[in-house]
Amino acid sequence: MEPRARSRSAVTAAAALLALTAACTGGTVQGRPGASGLRDPYFPKAGNGGYQVEHYDLDLDYDPADGQLDGTAVITARAEQGLSSFNLDLAGLRVEAVRVQGAAARYNRTGNELTVRPAEDLKKGEVFRTEIDYGGRPKSLADPDGSEEGWIRTEDGAVGVGEPVGSMTWFPGNHHPSDKATYDITLTVPQGYEAVSNGELRSRTATDDGRTEFAWHSPEPMASYLATAAVGKFKVTTGRTASGVAVYNAVEPAEAAASAGPLARLPEMVEWGSSRFGPYPFGTAGAVVLPEATLAYALETQTKPVYSGAPGSEELVLHELAHQWFGNSVSPKSWKDMWLNEGFATYAEWLWSEDHGGTTAQARFEAFLAGDTEVDEEAGSDWAAFPPAAPPGPEDISGAPVYYRGAMALHRIRQVVGDEKFFDLLRGWAADHRHGNAGTADFTAYAQERTGHDLKKVWDVWLYGKGRPRP
Ligand SMILES: [Zn+2]
Repeated sequence: MEPRARSRSAVTAAAALLALTAACTGGTVQGRPGASGLRDPYFPKAGNGGYQVEHYDLDLDYDPADGQLDGTAVITARAEQGLSSFNLDLAGLRVEAVRVQGAAARYNRTGNELTVRPAEDLKKGEVFRTEIDYGGRPKSLADPDGSEEGWIRTEDGAVGVGEPVGSMTWFPGNHHPSDKATYDITLTVPQGYEAVSNGELRSRTATDDGRTEFAWHSPEPMASYLATAAVGKFKVTTGRTASGVAVYNAVEPAEAAASAGPLARLPEMVEWGSSRFGPYPFGTAGAVVLPEATLAYALETQTKPVYSGAPGSEELVLHELAHQWFGNSVSPKSWKDMWLNEGFATYAEWLWSEDHGGTTAQARFEAFLAGDTEVDEEAGSDWAAFPPAAPPGPEDISGAPVYYRGAMALHRIRQVVGDEKFFDLLRGWAADHRHGNAGTADFTAYAQERTGHDLKKVWDVWLYGKGRPRP
């Protein structure tokens, strides 16, 4: 994502707590309710406890003319405790039926929580299958920083984007980045429309009733905020990078000419990223370019970032690509760790520039300290307003310090340990946490161990210090 202006209002949706008593089935298995949130420091109701999802199979039928979505979500999960009930996050829409292990299950809804009570308690360790039939007109929701996410309609289509919690507007799930799963997303749309999602296109089929079904498959784990579905009359182009990564670009025709330049270098960027950060973590790459002004930001949706209108610059394409390593493969443990996404993606932009005859990272670091907007216009931003590893609230997780001071923290490490150890650290971090989750404490411990340097002062000043850091 791109940095956002600091917010006007901080309205965190607070769903009412739902108290449930454990149902005793009379047998030896006695479960208790799974938690209705994971106590994320900024989004405490996001996600749910008691299970981890292994796979989502979403079968969605969408009509752009009236905005109606009808879907079935099949969620395969593993119980981490005995469960008498468990929750999924779902905002709006109508639930028509829920089945667990093939048997009808009772369910009820409070706020954004869908509580499911299986006919029989689930055992700890049991892998269970939940099917949810649902539908309605999905909506967008407002973030604490005032921006919009969720399901957003365009003139002739729609897009689902979910950072941090918008995915619950279009499918039920365990919507917290700490629960990553593989996905199959099948989208059926009227003939003449393209439907795009993460991963690879397995099939494109004309249905008997004159619609087109697109089956997308994501074999690598994905945090649910990175899932996307885009429907529109896109112009699709495909190709491959030099090392064979498949590229799939879906571009709003009106934006095609302006997108051509920035997207042309994507294959080269994938190869460059692989040389800097280690092997590209996914089998596919690409982009979805939406009609102009669909969103107030670009988002690094897994394998295919979405852009609102043509990407404004090559650096923006590089930034969203860099997230595929930092954020998408190595995902944050909580929303407090957002600088591990954004500081790294911003630093990747600095490195790309340095490696291609542009401003060096050192010159950019100095420009930020001096407020020199001729070198980087963001040097004039409020990058020192708060410590990047401790944003004051949920409205700040996409604020300037998370990006620029986060990148500066990485550059400080580079200054202390030298280039060889620094680039080894970046590659090691991406490799050792590949397709996993990691938090700030994991990073600081890892950096010290990997480089053999005591970096406490860097953390104290750049990640956690309240004042404006001084060199
Ligand atoms: Zn970003």
